[in-house]
Amino acid sequence: MIIILKQGITPEEKNNVKSVLKENGFIVKEIKGEQDTVLGAVGVARMDPRMIEIMPGVSSVVPISKPYKLASRELKKEDTIVSVGRVKIGGNRIAVIAGPCAVESCDQIMRIAEKVREAGAVVLRGGAYKPRTSPYSFQGLGEEGLKLLRKAGDTFDMPVTTEVVSPRDVEIMKDYIDMFQIGARNMQNFELLKEVGKTGMPVLLKRGLSATIEEWLMAAEYLMASGTDQVVLCERGIRTYEKATRNTLDCSAIPVVQKLTHLPVIGDPSHATGIRDMVSPMALALVAGGASGIMVEVHDHPELALSDGPQSLYPEQFERLMRDIEALAPVVGKAVERMPRLVPSTIMDASAEENDEDASRTIAFQGERGAFSELAVRRVFSEEEKVLPCKEFKDVFDAVASGKAVYGVVPIENTLGGTVFDNYDLLKMEENITVVGEVQVRIIHNLIVNPGVALADVRKVYSHPQGLAQCREFLDKELPDAERIPFFDTAGAVSYLKETGARDAAAIAGSPAAMYNGMEIIRQGIETNARNYTRFFVISREENAATFKSRAHVNRAAVTFNVADRPGSLFQVLDILQKHGMNMKKLESRPILGKPWEYSFFVETELADEDELECLIPMLKESTTSFRVLGTYTAAH
Ligand code: PEP
Ligand code: MN
Repeated sequence: MIIILKQGITPEEKNNVKSVLKENGFIVKEIKGEQDTVLGAVGVARMDPRMIEIMPGVSSVVPISKPYKLASRELKKEDTIVSVGRVKIGGNRIAVIAGPCAVESCDQIMRIAEKVREAGAVVLRGGAYKPRTSPYSFQGLGEEGLKLLRKAGDTFDMPVTTEVVSPRDVEIMKDYIDMFQIGARNMQNFELLKEVGKTGMPVLLKRGLSATIEEWLMAAEYLMASGTDQVVLCERGIRTYEKATRNTLDCSAIPVVQKLTHLPVIGDPSHATGIRDMVSPMALALVAGGASGIMVEVHDHPELALSDGPQSLYPEQFERLMRDIEALAPVVGKAVERMPRLVPSTIMDASAEENDEDASRTIAFQGERGAFSELAVRRVFSEEEKVLPCKEFKDVFDAVASGKAVYGVVPIENTLGGTVFDNYDLLKMEENITVVGEVQVRIIHNLIVNPGVALADVRKVYSHPQGLAQCREFLDKELPDAERIPFFDTAGAVSYLKETGARDAAAIAGSPAAMYNGMEIIRQGIETNARNYTRFFVISREENAATFKSRAHVNRAAVTFNVADRPGSLFQVLDILQKHGMNMKKLESRPILGKPWEYSFFVETELADEDELECLIPMLKESTTSFRVLGTYTAAH
């Protein structure tokens, strides 16, 4: 059952409730959501729920209807984010696990680890104990394989996962690996599940060859009841009458499972298809279907592989697949997980008056909680970093400049609304602030109301003018008589509706704003044009730029300059770029404040590496009256 606690419950009252449940034989888990805190109580014991409901501090008690309890979405509404080393799986990320089917030798695992890491995999896989259909096939290198996998993971800074086939191996494996893998053949090996669950470590749980979704979730329940809450589910194809592929990939399991459980679900197109050429299209299908990641087998000499060669991608194919996933990610509202950013642990700055110890982990954005800018923040930074919502763009820059926040995220361009000039102007003015990153977010608008309000009740619609404009077709058709009221920002419109409790009004905003405010979405995806993206810059002070960029390949630069008022002066600058093969991606001009009819230019250009730009700076300075690099970063796609 789920025990929903009152917001003002005291620690003593909470402990009392927990003790009574435990005395009655329940396992108790506390789950803190954005809004409520609940206790999940599971076990075989029978108890009249009213006994709990009347206890001080308890708001209500709700039974869990599914046979799996701890794994169920009923118990925990928010997505579970599983941490595998520094890598996170779940939420709005797409995490890619790659490596050979089996660890075969030191050389082999090191070569492949380097290749998959370079292409963008964040977790390294490789079997050391192989569950083979034939006892005469290669069975894996055992502990030697674990050692080699660990070595490759450490060398290339990747957490590692490998399959456990026997309860007796759990103890020795846990010191070598970051995540256990339970293979399809062992999904219902309950003794193994219990032993692995007891470690409390992350587990990748493959779906059994002929397991129903419910059986699969019951296996996850075993792991959770034994002591881990870090479970990632993996759809890897099921046995059907079809013989054309090794198994039949059940893509529809992804959205089904996501509805039923808060645990992340990923897909394995390698074992599902068994055929190299089918792996990449099915990987994309899994991502399109909402998977939180994929696991793929990669081998640089698949013809020599000791197992699963025919389904292993060549490193070049894997690299191409990573690029396709990257392009697809924003369409499904996700970002590909890269090796996590290191946020500097402290900022040494005596000038920052209000600098507290949290500042080094704080990211500033403009808007209220749940705004699209906050979504952009979460695409780049982990949930552990705090956010600082700011009223104006200028406040974001001030927060970063003063050290109140270590990074800021500001919109720079929307595919429908065009350039956000204010932020270019601020970038130009704030000399100590530099662009360090770029992120893209797909803008999906929803009609949001106070719980229980129906479409027919809506007489007024609040949103940012862009939100109203971008949903014009929907409003004309479904709410032609409703008054459209411009608001400061989309998420702010939602919190305003919540405060007023209006029963005759709706707001247009992103889904996080509804979730954050406990409001109801009555229509999803109401924007006229679905190809609606906003590009954001990540900004920081100079001294924190290197930390942000240390793990990514810098391939873009943003610069600003003024030119003299004479023929060909702009051409001269562009000519330098052209002559050095730099592909310009964007050119904007802005009037210079206080100098009527004179203009500043902003250019974004492709870059082979940072040194390329350094060499050109003297030439560019000579051809301009003022020149500044606003920043260098990794392009969002
Ligand atoms: C594997 O991942 O190497 C494996 C054996 O997978 P499955 O258990 O899905 O067959
Ligand atoms: Mn395999």
